Amino acid sequence: ALAQRDEAADELERRTRIFASAQERYYERPMQIERGWRHHLIDTTGRAYVDVVNNVTGLGHGHPGVADAMNRQSRILNTNSRFLFRELAEYSERLLALLPADSELDTVLLVNSGSEAVDLALRLAQAATGRRTVVSLREAYHGWTMASDAVTTSAYDNPYALENRPDWVHVADVPNRFRGTHRGEDSGARYAADLGADLERLAADGRDVAGFICESVLGNAGGVMLPDGYLADAYQRVRDAGGLCIADEVQVGFGRMGSTFWGFEQSGVRPDIIAIAKPMGNGFPLGGVITSKRVADALASQGQFFSSAGGNPLSCRVGLAVLDAMAEDGLQENARVVGGRLADGFRELGARHEIIGPVHGEGLYLGVELVRDRETMEPAKEEAAAICERLKELGVIVLTTSERSNVLKVKPPLCLTAESADFVVAALDRVLTEGW
Ligand code: PMP
Repeated sequence: ALAQRDEAADELERRTRIFASAQERYYERPMQIERGWRHHLIDTTGRAYVDVVNNVTGLGHGHPGVADAMNRQSRILNTNSRFLFRELAEYSERLLALLPADSELDTVLLVNSGSEAVDLALRLAQAATGRRTVVSLREAYHGWTMASDAVTTSAYDNPYALENRPDWVHVADVPNRFRGTHRGEDSGARYAADLGADLERLAADGRDVAGFICESVLGNAGGVMLPDGYLADAYQRVRDAGGLCIADEVQVGFGRMGSTFWGFEQSGVRPDIIAIAKPMGNGFPLGGVITSKRVADALASQGQFFSSAGGNPLSCRVGLAVLDAMAEDGLQENARVVGGRLADGFRELGARHEIIGPVHGEGLYLGVELVRDRETMEPAKEEAAAICERLKELGVIVLTTSERSNVLKVKPPLCLTAESADFVVAALDRVLTEGW
């Protein structure tokens, strides 16, 4: 343990020396990680942790099928997408086949990250409508590029933009029914009406909406489900105003919801543009936009679209291997079953521990909101941080999210087992019982 502490301390010192201070890192005293396997991370002393936060490695760490596909394709061919090769169309067709049967989306554009996907989605909405204004919800994270950062409204992630937001972005209220402007199950219509009023004001100011972007489930808030009826109502109002609806599915899509493949299916809506990334490559950088040909072709009015590595044979092969493994391993169904078990476990803890407020989410995108008072919803921010540090000592890697840093974010690899889910709940129970 002593050797490991020294190694981790050395690595931290080295990292601090060569990294920009703006780059976030986890934990006061991080462990030095050496290996990942399925839903576990293993440190240099051989200690295994249950990894409850790595939603990028949706299949789990070290997946052999993906490693084999990567190895094989990198020996055969890797070149940019201006050449003709079979993998690009094959992967794009497989992505389109994941859409609900009644979807009219038929076109795929491949990039390398979620930020790029969001950036491209915004560009598409502006090109297709010939308008500039984009409406984004408060407390959102959408990426770091100039455009995706402009619609990142979280004061936690992007305090600079609160004062310096470009004029093409309008920030609308976040429809959080637990602690927002409107509360309760029936708050969806009221939030949507507020959005409608915003759209009317924008139009009156000559700022007709090009696009409306939001996460289909509020991921950055810790998996807060949108109130009933909100998204359908919001999409209708945006479309009536001539705008396009963009679903950011980077975090909540791709099987994680369990009961549905996409987050937007939870609200029964159909977006015009979908941005995807994180789990597509299981850690290999892969992102994309799914839309209609009409919208995609509008991009031609702005010149050519080209990404050097986006859609190359290697990334497409990785993407195909990920989809194969998801199906073979039954991961969406596992997310439904194990996610349900985990949520039940957290809710049961809520009956015994006052600090647990609402348990958010669906499938394996959950958020355990910690509050000092269930009525006032005063965030238990310092407590949440201390609980995460103690959970790490007990072998569980879980971290905080939300604007108030008081929600334990639970978005593990989708291969999480029932046994490990029970271990996580038992560890949290122990921390809350013993103190932290
Ligand atoms: N959208 C959402 C909802 C995200 O959570 C993130 C990343 N956290 C992004 C976009 C940006 O993705 P990336 O980090 O791959 O650029």
